[in-house]
Amino acid sequence: MALAAETKAIVGQYDYTDEDVNKGVKEFLRQMGEGLEKDGTSLSQIPTYVTAVPNGTEKGLYLAVDLGGTNFRVCSIQLNGDSTFHLTFSKVPIPKEMMVAKTSQELFAFLAKQIDVFLQTHHMADYDRHVRRRNTVSSPTGFKDEPVFRLGFTFSFPVKQVGINKGTLIRWTKGFDIPDAVGKDVCALLQVEIDKLHLPVKVAALVNDTVGTLMARSYTSPGKTGAVLGAIFGTGTNGAYLEKLANIKKPLEGEYDNSTGDMVINTEWGSFDNQLNVLPNTPWDIQVDKDSVNPGIQMFEKRVSGMFLGEIVRRTLLDMMGNEKMAFFKDENSSFNDWKSTTSIAEHSGIFKQWGLDSSIMSVAAADTTPELSTLRQELEGQLHVYSPSLEDAQAFKAVAGAVGRRAARLSAVAIGAIVLQTGQLSQAGDEPIDIGVDGSLVEHYPYFRDMIYEALRVIDGIGEEGAKRIRIGIAKDGSGVGAALIALVAAGME
Ligand code: ADP
Repeated sequence: MALAAETKAIVGQYDYTDEDVNKGVKEFLRQMGEGLEKDGTSLSQIPTYVTAVPNGTEKGLYLAVDLGGTNFRVCSIQLNGDSTFHLTFSKVPIPKEMMVAKTSQELFAFLAKQIDVFLQTHHMADYDRHVRRRNTVSSPTGFKDEPVFRLGFTFSFPVKQVGINKGTLIRWTKGFDIPDAVGKDVCALLQVEIDKLHLPVKVAALVNDTVGTLMARSYTSPGKTGAVLGAIFGTGTNGAYLEKLANIKKPLEGEYDNSTGDMVINTEWGSFDNQLNVLPNTPWDIQVDKDSVNPGIQMFEKRVSGMFLGEIVRRTLLDMMGNEKMAFFKDENSSFNDWKSTTSIAEHSGIFKQWGLDSSIMSVAAADTTPELSTLRQELEGQLHVYSPSLEDAQAFKAVAGAVGRRAARLSAVAIGAIVLQTGQLSQAGDEPIDIGVDGSLVEHYPYFRDMIYEALRVIDGIGEEGAKRIRIGIAKDGSGVGAALIALVAAGME
């Protein structure tokens, strides 16, 4: 059989039909409902205590910080009240020793110090006024009547949020390990260190990045209702949406303003359908999961997000290469054809290593529509050390990567479509757009990702052609900057 026909059989396993999409939506809605009722379900549906989204008229100067990985970002955001903003920021790498400091106090003191430096660098006038005042009173609480900067704290680690500016750390991830912080309120830890430096700063909100994305989109693209959903398609995937308070059946422990009748819910949809009731499960999905650090968990994320797509493609290609009967990466003119016997190839090519194929090459494959696929073939050489790949090899690679990417987009449409249906906005008369803010490299850079999402949205029962036309999916950048500032603003209204 020719390579193209054999590849077709493999690619077919990534088909996710219109019927599958609809089954997925039904199950997503069911699991959303379950998560609103009790804890410990597949979709966590975490209440965020944020009860309103902005409409673009918000004004003021706010601070935002973002602790999530290698860098600590500090920024100030001037909201102009006309859907625009001005952002000033600084970024400092977090020293490795801080990530594993003996006490959490050391890390949070370091963070407070960076806020101090930022204020001195960019907001000297406010800072000065404050310091002069500080010299006349003895304790930070003496500043009660002083104007303070309200700060939104984006903290991208698992927390149990119990109020708009209160949440306890469940566990560290991403190389951080400071045991005494676990179980403590991270906002309080930061506030204590800020107060020690007598900074005019109040930690007003604890922010999840998806909620920030939702807020940022609402502010910059205002409609009558604001955005209904903020979603990330980057290393991971997750979404936060505006839910009716009346639908949240599980107990809400913290304080919140119930006058809007709504609350933003962080779905944690990466764990949708961990039990695999409806999610597709090819032999390569099974391998990727089995060899991951958390088998059986985050099953939706493992089929949708940037971190995993390349790995699914890699596993598929590896099986094709191992199949003696398949003429894949075996072209005699390619220096890759004897990969089995040449250790230097195995040593160098990411194809042979877990996580060795970055999802970004899938974007190159999708973007290259030339007959010779020359850009993709160059990239196969550059990134994967497949020297002089044949046209047929590149075509097979493109077909597999395209199928995995397309399935991810259609699965994304399941989550987006289900949430649009859950909000009930489509049944309201009029043609007001239903706004959705998205962020992340996958949705931003993968060609046609949004088009493929729309294609699937159109076949969803209850959405259809007309409904899909009303759904407006737009990039919302800076969720951890402007979004966090907006949550600090909403929080200030509740004080
Ligand atoms: P994060 O989610 O960590 O904030 P990004 O949104 O940049 O960061 O997402 C990074 C992820 O996106 C990585 O898993 C990377 O492999 C993937 N990625 C980066 N660029 C592209 C691209 N052009 N096409 C598809 N995936 C990409």
